[in-house]
Amino acid sequence: MMAAAPRDVDVLGVPITCFSSYEHATQSIVRRIRNRDKTLCIAINPEKVCFARDDAALRNIIRRAQIHICDGVGTAVAVKWITGWRIPRITGVGLFFKLMETAEQEGLGIFLLGAKPEVNEKAWRVLRDRHPKLRIAGRHDGYFKDANEVIRQINGSGADMLFAALGSPRQEKWLSRYLEVLNVPFCMGVGGSFDVLAGYVKRAPEFFQRTGTEFLYRLIREPHRWRRQLILPGFTARMLVEAITARGLKSFVSSREIRTIYGGAEGGAFASNRRSAEVRA
Ligand code: UDP
Repeated sequence: MMAAAPRDVDVLGVPITCFSSYEHATQSIVRRIRNRDKTLCIAINPEKVCFARDDAALRNIIRRAQIHICDGVGTAVAVKWITGWRIPRITGVGLFFKLMETAEQEGLGIFLLGAKPEVNEKAWRVLRDRHPKLRIAGRHDGYFKDANEVIRQINGSGADMLFAALGSPRQEKWLSRYLEVLNVPFCMGVGGSFDVLAGYVKRAPEFFQRTGTEFLYRLIREPHRWRRQLILPGFTARMLVEAITARGLKSFVSSREIRTIYGGAEGGAFASNRRSAEVRA
C-alpha cells in the first residue's frame, strides 16, 4: 500500500513532519529519491526549535528543508499538545539505521561524510559487515578544508543518499549551503551517528531510549552539555501557551481529544489504544 503523504505541524515556527512510523518515513523518502525530488531532512528537537528562534539563518535553513523528523520527545509532546495527535518520535540515529536497511534492500547508494578519519573508516567497516549488499558509494571524514573537492567526490560517487555527521547546526548549514550543487537527491544531518555506529559512543541504554530521556543520559555522561538543557523550561512554557491558544483550555485538558494522526492501517501500532512508549512523556 502506498504511504500517506505526511502532514506538517508548526511548533513555534518550525515545521514537524508527522510520520506514523519509521516505515512511513523510509517509504516517503524512497519515493522522493525515485522521483529525484531534492530533499534535505533535518532532525528537530526542542533545542533546535529554540536555536531557530534566535538564529535567523538556521530558521531559514530549517524552513527550506523538505522533511523535519520529530527527533525529540519534547517535540512529540508539543505536537500532541497543539493538535491532539499522538505521533511517534523518529530519531535521527534511528532513521539513519533504518535507512541503511532500506538502501540495502532498494539498491540505493550512500555516502558517509563526517566524523574523525578513524571513526569514518570504522563506521564504513561496520556497515560493510552488517549490510553486505549495501552500496557504499563513498566516504570522507568531517575535518576538511576544501568543500569543493569533497563535493566533487560526492557528485562523482553516484550516491542517492548523503549522510553528514558534522555536528549540529554545522551539518544543516553545510548541507543547505551546497544543496543545489550536490547531485544527490536525499541529504540528511546525522550528528554523532557515525560515532555510535563505529562503537566510539554508546547509545543510551534501552530504558532511556524507551522513555525518550536520552538527553538525560547524555547529560550524565557529558555534563558540560548542561547549558543546552536550560532552554527546556522556556520551551515547555511557550508550548503550553501556544497549545492552549490553538485548541482552547477545555479541549487541551480533555484526554479524549488525543487521537492518532492517520488512523487505519497507516497508523500501525499508533492506531490502537496502546499508548506508545516512544511518546510517553
Ligand atoms: N564533526 C566533524 N567535523 C567538525 C566537527 C564535528 O566531522 O568540524 C563530527 C564529530 O567528529 C562527531 C560529529 O561531528 O563525529 C558530531 O559531533 P557532536 O557530538 O559535537 O555533535 P552534536 O551531537 O552536538 O550534533
